[in-house]
Amino acid sequence: MYYHLILTEFCHRKCTYCYEKSMNPQEFEIKNDNLQFDESAPTKSEVTVKQLDAFLKKDDVLIFYGGEPLIEIPKMQEIMDFFGDKIQYRMQTNGLLLDRLPYKYLKQIRKILISIDGNKKRTDHNRGIGNYDRVLKNIKKIREEGYTGELVARMTIAREFPDVYNSVRSIIRLVNKGLFDSVHWQIDAGFYKADFEEVNFTKFIEQYNTSITRLMKWWITQMKKGKIYKLYPFIGISESVLRQEKTSMRCGAGHTGFAITTNGMISACPVTNAVKTFYAGNVNEASESIKPMTVQGDCLQCSYLDLCGGRCLYQNYARLWPKMGNALICQSVKHLIDAVKKKQPLLQALIDKKMISLKDFSYEKYFGPEIIP
Ligand code: SF4
Ligand code: SF4
Repeated sequence: MYYHLILTEFCHRKCTYCYEKSMNPQEFEIKNDNLQFDESAPTKSEVTVKQLDAFLKKDDVLIFYGGEPLIEIPKMQEIMDFFGDKIQYRMQTNGLLLDRLPYKYLKQIRKILISIDGNKKRTDHNRGIGNYDRVLKNIKKIREEGYTGELVARMTIAREFPDVYNSVRSIIRLVNKGLFDSVHWQIDAGFYKADFEEVNFTKFIEQYNTSITRLMKWWITQMKKGKIYKLYPFIGISESVLRQEKTSMRCGAGHTGFAITTNGMISACPVTNAVKTFYAGNVNEASESIKPMTVQGDCLQCSYLDLCGGRCLYQNYARLWPKMGNALICQSVKHLIDAVKKKQPLLQALIDKKMISLKDFSYEKYFGPEIIP
């Protein structure tokens, strides 16, 4: 099983799509009957190593998560000192404090998602001046120290920059330099109640979809040259299409991936610390007693469900956006799935000619990249 351990709710950055939106007074004022909050959850994890020891099983995967997990380095070290290689470690971080974690610990975390939104201009616009340079400096440092684990560029495609093609291509330059290994993105949509504007978001989706088509064309061109770039949304959907496999929620939320909240509750998704609606168990009980959670509502009638999985369990339950907003998000999901399906014969032909292999599309599911943006 995959468990995001929410070490802290604090983050030292004030990113436009996270901090600014969550601090919008409207988010507090608007009552949402779909979400029940847990006022008692502390901002910092109170879960002890002893509790984790009783709860986790050998080979479980623990994903250090926040807020910003690297604010809690002593706790991370305590956990890794105690468990050693009995469990596996992953992390999702903004990358700014990566240089502070001693290499002895860092090398045990075999996959790390690092927030970066494309080139310096886009990243610093979203995440603050100097962010891009500092993150790259830290990545260079850990690579020089010998870090060989997977570094995933975790992009947020914000409303101002629908051009996913150019954002990904900027990251690909870093992949080619050996700084990152793979790319994942999620569109900033459906996570806050007060940020939906029909006209702007309709335009965003049109531009984003056009850009996806362009990116897919480029990705296939590279593949014909024998190079498969690990763009998680493309890889994940392609694998399902090629293997003719159905998926459940692709991020793992509610079935294979859960979060251990700051007060020791087991929650169906890592962004739901202190949201009772997603509580599925308790760290003091056996993991077998965790209650699974599945998508509901319109997704159940959708012909894309087997490949989409429902995009996001949080969005599906919280229903923060109006129907029209959700329909526009789904337009982007359907466009992406159709773009992959259209290329299936070509992908199969390349496999048959042994130019690429089906194995090239295999990836570790549920450690972080949500696949459906
Ligand atoms: S495309 Fe939309 S409605 Fe269909 S399964 Fe995905 S999220 Fe649900
Ligand atoms: S996609 Fe949604 S449900 Fe899955 S981890 Fe992200 S926020 Fe949670």
